[in-house]
Amino acid sequence: MPDRLTYLDHAATTPLRPEAADAMAPWLGGRFGNPSGAHRVARAARRAVDEARDVVAAAVGCRPGDVVFTSGGTEADNLAVTGVPAARPGRVLCSAVEHEAVLAPVAAGGGCTVPVDASGAVDVDALAGVLGPDVTLVSVMAANNEVGTIQPVAAVAEAVRRRAPGAAVHADAVQAAPWLDLPALVAGADLVSVSSHKVGGPQGVGALVVRPGTPLRARALGGGQERELRSGTHNVAGIVGFAAALAAAAATRDEAAARVRALADRLADGLVAAVPGAVETVPDRAARLPGLVHLCVPGTESEALLFLLDEAGVCASAAAACASGAHQDSHVLAAMGVPRARAAGALRLSLGWSSTGADVDHALAVIPAAAARLREGAA
Ligand code: PLP
Repeated sequence: MPDRLTYLDHAATTPLRPEAADAMAPWLGGRFGNPSGAHRVARAARRAVDEARDVVAAAVGCRPGDVVFTSGGTEADNLAVTGVPAARPGRVLCSAVEHEAVLAPVAAGGGCTVPVDASGAVDVDALAGVLGPDVTLVSVMAANNEVGTIQPVAAVAEAVRRRAPGAAVHADAVQAAPWLDLPALVAGADLVSVSSHKVGGPQGVGALVVRPGTPLRARALGGGQERELRSGTHNVAGIVGFAAALAAAAATRDEAAARVRALADRLADGLVAAVPGAVETVPDRAARLPGLVHLCVPGTESEALLFLLDEAGVCASAAAACASGAHQDSHVLAAMGVPRARAAGALRLSLGWSSTGADVDHALAVIPAAAARLREGAA
């Protein structure tokens, strides 16, 4: 076992905030109830879900009645991307750097991707060129999970209103939620996905915001919960924990973002100085999420580097977490035009609400030495 554990994979999942744990505790112990029932135990559970709904609505900038609780970001994305064309058939477009939870259902439905520039931002002119009255949905994430690029959601929404006025805009705000002012960022989106475990809530819960008038057909049919848009008994403890985490994140957001950005900048500066040839994938730091440092380390293979880091107690990743844990080429780096040889040494270090200066010190002590060891081995 290494002496110290440094967790730099908050974009994959971030630890449960104490506020979330406290809020959930009664619902994992004595309190219970099916919010769909009529008696007092059920009504108390429904009140808890409704209070959580108010918190989610305030965090995203919508009415409480627009919030549809789901089992997480993946289900929210799937509901948006498949539920809109089911209600209003037409072409579906998404950016080439979306999470698989958007890309896979878009591809399965015969939709198309829109290119991004070298920083990973969607090319709004290219999007405008393929928009037309037959488009029913455009999905563009608020911020990218691999490289952290913040997307021009407002410009996308404006282009859609002009060229495909009947189309809905979906924004996957799963990664943006801990860091950015969501009501401003996603004001132009008709549908917005959020996920609890990226903001310090429990895993397996999230929400899709559906603004009034957006055509959407339910995917999960059954008891008609969530205004008939998502059947299934509510995960009351999870929903309560999600809301508590979101409220805690919102209350400390600006201060946390500034603190974590300073840590991330020190980490990036230190690595660029200490690892020969290392380059930041998105050099404009204001254009990306505060906690995300993405580098390509020449002369190393991500998998080997991550193994050495893990041995030294630094948990990091190369790209998005995938079920197999196996390394796959990054579709995000490919879409940004990063040459394959450079992308082979990709390293994602993502900081979060619980990151400290000691984490950065440890990472700076370990990563340059690990990269040098791999280089020597390859020479
Ligand atoms: N969208 C983005 C941008 C993500 O980063 C993730 C998770 O990594 C998801 C969607 C999926 O969310 P969940 O893990 O809650 O299913």
